[in-house]
Amino acid sequence: MLEVEGLTKYYGRKRAVNQVGFRVIQGEIVGLLGLNGSGKTTLLRMLAGSLLPTAGRVTVGGIDLLEEPREVKKHLSFLPETPPLYNDMKVRSCLRFVGRLKGMGRADLRDRLPVVEAQTGIEDVGDEVIGHLSFGYRQRVAVAMALIHDPKLLLLDEPASGLDPVQIVEMRELIRSLRGNHTVILSSHLLPEISQICDRILMIQEGEIIGEGPEEDLAQRFTRKIRVRMQVRASRSDIEDCLRAVPQVEGIEWGREQDGRSSFVLDLSEDVREAIGLKLVSRGLGLLEMVRTDLDLENTFLRLMQTEEGSS
Ligand code: ADP
Repeated sequence: MLEVEGLTKYYGRKRAVNQVGFRVIQGEIVGLLGLNGSGKTTLLRMLAGSLLPTAGRVTVGGIDLLEEPREVKKHLSFLPETPPLYNDMKVRSCLRFVGRLKGMGRADLRDRLPVVEAQTGIEDVGDEVIGHLSFGYRQRVAVAMALIHDPKLLLLDEPASGLDPVQIVEMRELIRSLRGNHTVILSSHLLPEISQICDRILMIQEGEIIGEGPEEDLAQRFTRKIRVRMQVRASRSDIEDCLRAVPQVEGIEWGREQDGRSSFVLDLSEDVREAIGLKLVSRGLGLLEMVRTDLDLENTFLRLMQTEEGSS
């Protein structure tokens, strides 16, 4: 559906996106995850054909975006972080207007309007003036505008930005409902937003894709150590005695010790949870909790970014 090769953008001497390449298959929902300033907007705008790359190639459905921008743009929509809305217009008139701009005929629009209104949950506000709507509704109208011509590819820049928690859940449901019918790329600096919607994550840092795949794969790839959070009914010295004989234990970070229970985090060179569990239990120490925490991409992502920032 989408193929990107060597995509690069310089703003003057500032390099915002560097040699980005990836593929997206039809119907897939892909999340672009990166801190603010990492190049997400620049990348999406280049994919949308609204910003000229310094180098690289983008094809949508096999058609080259730079060679045939008009043709490609017929099949895609880009929703910026702050969508431009015609605040003086009524919702339905605005959708009709946008549809006509996209080249839709009256008959197409008549069929398509109710579908899009239902999909975005704005059936009841069709006759309202956009500027009078709440922020959450205006955001849905913006998505409806992006969907009106039934684009194959939808690019959403921080679609949940500024929404409250209830509206975020609604937006998530809305984007999920597009799976299969539309190919979607959405950006966010928040992992939970992306991990709950997307089939695959592209991690971007300083304009480069530093990781790609489902959340679990990425977490595994970026995690060097295995970390296990533990709670054991025993004193620290008894636990230390017991674990000393396990060569895979590389470190113990002690937490609270209360009412005869010790909390701690183990750094392991290999996943030997079963052996550790057996050892503790065979010594008569009560194993209360054992949770592997390194497969949590949120932590990994933050740690990775902090390390990179600290070392630069
Ligand atoms: P993100 O969307 O991840 O926050 P952006 O794509 O907006 O990142 O920005 C990437 C980098 O490019 C940032 O360092 C930003 O300051 C810079 N940048 C963005 N737009 C411009 C511009 N028009 N001129 C110069 N630098 C820009």
